[in-house]
Amino acid sequence: MTPLFQYEDDREASSAAKVRALEALLIEKGVIGSDSVDAVLQHFETVAGPFNGAKIVARAWVDPAFKQRLVEDTPKAIAELDLPAGMAGAEGEHMAAVANGDGVHNLIICTLCSCYPWPVLGLPPYWYKDPVFRARGVREPRAVLREFGVDVPTETEVKVWDSSAQIRWFVVPERPANTEHLGEQELAALVTPESMMGVALVASPAAT
Ligand code: FE
Repeated sequence: MTPLFQYEDDREASSAAKVRALEALLIEKGVIGSDSVDAVLQHFETVAGPFNGAKIVARAWVDPAFKQRLVEDTPKAIAELDLPAGMAGAEGEHMAAVANGDGVHNLIICTLCSCYPWPVLGLPPYWYKDPVFRARGVREPRAVLREFGVDVPTETEVKVWDSSAQIRWFVVPERPANTEHLGEQELAALVTPESMMGVALVASPAAT
């Protein structure tokens, strides 16, 4: 992916160092327990994450009636699936799905801060919170998408959805070609978080 914005090369390392220092201080002051951070991390590795969104998208691909229900009443449709509890938990209230296709490409952003549907997508990447991304995403979504490697044809409409405390969007990307033979689990494995944010397409599986 072409980097949209300029960050220091040691951004990951310096962020990790800051987090470690902050965690140590909070534990020392008795604000959190020694296993608090691990518990949160485990939650986002096993309960809330893009693996849930991928299952939802795969179901929508194989079941058009489910896809219809999903865009009409997202929480109700999600409740049909066997997903971990917590779909209505933090940042899970009022999630709404929008489907790519039929001449429309959807992009989700949060212009105000970083609202994101945690239960289905996990935690947002750092650039999602970047003021430049948030501003350019609404002003020139096609240019931003091009920088992500998504060339949206001029005849395709680009819709930008602004997540907020009231509603948190995610995208049902288009099913790629050459996947007719794949089952739901294999389809889910193709779905990336970026594709459910609208900044990537789902690639066809490599021809074997
Ligand atoms: Fe926000």
